[in-house]
Amino acid sequence: MLSLENKLSILGEGARYDVSCASSGSVRRPQAGLIGSTSTAIAGVCHSWSEDGRCVSLLKILMSNACVYDCAYCLNRSSADIPRASLTPEELAELTIEFYRRNYIEGLFLSSAVLMDPQYTTEQMIKALALLRHTYRFNGYIHVKAIPGVDPLLLQQLGLLADRMSVNIELPSESSLRLLAPEKEKRGILQPMANIRDLVNINKEERSRFRSAPLFAPAGQSTQMVVGASPETDRHILLLSQSLYRRYELRRVYYSAYVPVGNTSILPRDLPVPLTREHRLYQADWLVRLYGFSAEEVLDESYPHLEANIDPKAAWALRHLHLFPVEVNTADKATLLRVPGLGERSAQRIIQARRSKRLKPEDVKKMGMVIKRAQYFLTADGVFMGSIPLEHPELKLRLLDGPLEPQLSLLEDPAAPWIPQLPYFTKSLQPPEVVSEAGELAQVKKLATPPPAPWQDTVWQQVPPPAELPASLLPPASGKGG
Ligand code: SF4
Repeated sequence: MLSLENKLSILGEGARYDVSCASSGSVRRPQAGLIGSTSTAIAGVCHSWSEDGRCVSLLKILMSNACVYDCAYCLNRSSADIPRASLTPEELAELTIEFYRRNYIEGLFLSSAVLMDPQYTTEQMIKALALLRHTYRFNGYIHVKAIPGVDPLLLQQLGLLADRMSVNIELPSESSLRLLAPEKEKRGILQPMANIRDLVNINKEERSRFRSAPLFAPAGQSTQMVVGASPETDRHILLLSQSLYRRYELRRVYYSAYVPVGNTSILPRDLPVPLTREHRLYQADWLVRLYGFSAEEVLDESYPHLEANIDPKAAWALRHLHLFPVEVNTADKATLLRVPGLGERSAQRIIQARRSKRLKPEDVKKMGMVIKRAQYFLTADGVFMGSIPLEHPELKLRLLDGPLEPQLSLLEDPAAPWIPQLPYFTKSLQPPEVVSEAGELAQVKKLATPPPAPWQDTVWQQVPPPAELPASLLPPASGKGG
């Protein structure tokens, strides 16, 4: 019989590779009689992230690692020779509360392997969260993973106890899913996503009419994708993420660089995927989510991989030099956001400053922004701000990030032809290619017209329409609160 301490060690380790945790977006204010809150305004309650951007201070744990499925990329797969453990709902609730009372954590990130089947596993999770919320009066942040294939009624019960939900998309294509996670089906993953989206929207509507209606996953949903265990390009991955944001209203897609777990029989090679790839995908994702880029602009068919040594916005700018430089006094915010090195805050500062005067280069330099990279793409009052012209072959060198991670050298092994993202590791320092006039016109036109629906051309996009939700999950047909 395992002690609770042993279980904690096994199940904490099992959850280590789950990266989809961030507690932003949910507000549970402190309430009399309840403990915990998700508000960052409360002293002693804060959210922090580790250096690589992962969220800490949640108890991140599996309900069980005794999985009946055998996903090849997973540490907890049924064929793995590892110690197994499961927590009872009571153990999990007590553990969380004890950690919370000792100030080790602010919230809970609960996932689980498939214990018996998705329904049974979800029932166990519901029991644990119900104990936390109702018996222990825990009002802190809870992120819970929904198990693919879960019944919509159980999904609804789970969401009523959590702040955020997620269903892992797992792999970037259906063919990879069939190969590496044969017990999982595309529909079993996408259907719960569609149900969560609908239930969140129904809940918003309900709460606008009845203020006391219980919250359903107020921080929405996210997903996680394993990168590098299968051969999809970065472009494919980004297109899929874009479609998930649009279609399922996800708050975030998290990327998890594949970590070898000792099963090389059907995985391409027993080498870790560099974290740089994960990092570049997050940067590209950011451009799509927040900076108005479409996935097709960031990566196109002739440029399907992100480069290791240059950030995606700078790489895009180098391929679109004809759109630069932009004039700080007249460019709109969307255009300023496309300048390498300028972020939301810098763009806002420029817009604010130019309201009172026409900006000259010295004014921009005095604004306290770092324009080391932006200078090559800006004019101020008609004066080019860069120290070398845009067409200079050295420009790319000046835009490169620091030295590559040592582990990248592993992947330059010529005996690794299977690595799907080989161009990703090329360290070409060629000057940007010259674009013909016709090409320029085509690119300008492409930027000026709304992107086509990209999700129609990926394997994951032939998503079946969401099944009708059971009537019991729908809001009342009419009636006003009161
Ligand atoms: S379902 Fe697959 S990914 Fe999830 S714990 Fe089981 S083996 Fe791992």
